[in-house]
Amino acid sequence: MRLLHHPVLCNYYVTYKCNAKCNFCDIWEQPSPYVTLENVAANLKDLKQLGVKIIDFTGGEPLLHQQLSKMLEMAKDQGFITTVTTNTLLYQKRAQDLKGLIDMLHFSLDSYDQQQHDTMRGIACYDSVMKSIEMALSLGEKPDILFTAFSHNVDQIELIYQHITKPQGLVLIINPAFNYNTVDTGADFTTEQLTKLRDWSNKKRVYLNSAFISLIEDGGNHINNPVCKAGSSTIVISPDNKLISPCYHLNKEQFPLTNNLYTIYRQETVQKSLKQEGKLPECEGCTINCYMQPSFAVEINKYFWQALPSTIKYNMMKGTWKQLINKPLKIR
Ligand code: SF4
Ligand code: SF4
Repeated sequence: MRLLHHPVLCNYYVTYKCNAKCNFCDIWEQPSPYVTLENVAANLKDLKQLGVKIIDFTGGEPLLHQQLSKMLEMAKDQGFITTVTTNTLLYQKRAQDLKGLIDMLHFSLDSYDQQQHDTMRGIACYDSVMKSIEMALSLGEKPDILFTAFSHNVDQIELIYQHITKPQGLVLIINPAFNYNTVDTGADFTTEQLTKLRDWSNKKRVYLNSAFISLIEDGGNHINNPVCKAGSSTIVISPDNKLISPCYHLNKEQFPLTNNLYTIYRQETVQKSLKQEGKLPECEGCTINCYMQPSFAVEINKYFWQALPSTIKYNMMKGTWKQLINKPLKIR
């Protein structure tokens, strides 16, 4: 049963450029402009009207955009919940400007072992993560540590939890890696690893959406009965100001925006394109959790119920629950 009929999340790509070269990502290989403040202002207004609650200013590396703090300010002024994930290489320079503007600030860390983390990221950034945690805490920020889990680094979760997140009172987010396009994330998780990952979802100050684990066990999205609601739950905007359909990773169609997102989004051709979510041949077996997370929130099915406890837990830990209650999502 469909619970929400409007998009809840916007993945706003401020640039595809990145100062890292992670071995599980290909976004940094693309040439890319930066979004303009004028376009962001117009799109935020329309995103509000479309019912979106959360803006993920993403990339690439979002901190490469010199005006990121201005965009965040605009989003906060309009009552959006904001989120930014960074490899931290620029955080120390930008921390003062960004202070208080990001509800869900995520620092990526894939290993407690410096060499392993730097190898996975294609650049020396482990030290920067450690210094950025210190700086963020000194400014009163509470960054989450975002751990991308592969079969070859799951043993590092315990070390990061015991030595970094638990002592500092930070939230550890565990995000199982996924394959897409030509990006291969290595060996699949074993059954034992999936069981251990699921156990992490019950630990204090750890966020792991156990519905992701069930989806992996179920073989991902199936095109004959798609769980993916990428197109209808999430609005994806590219750095060159286009609406991307049905998700960033497939990028089947692009619709140019000229300060008219609200109108474009509601056009029949656009809706038809977005509704291909989860049904295209490439969608078989998909576990791209950036889109599964909002998909699980808009339709009542077994994944909805599995995702619910971790969603509530995370929002309680971050205090974003209050914002969701104060400004409830439109349900029709
Ligand atoms: S930091 Fe993020 S955007 Fe940059 S290469 Fe790594 S995963 Fe991709
Ligand atoms: S199933 Fe995956 S590839 Fe297909 S639309 Fe959804 S997120 Fe994109």
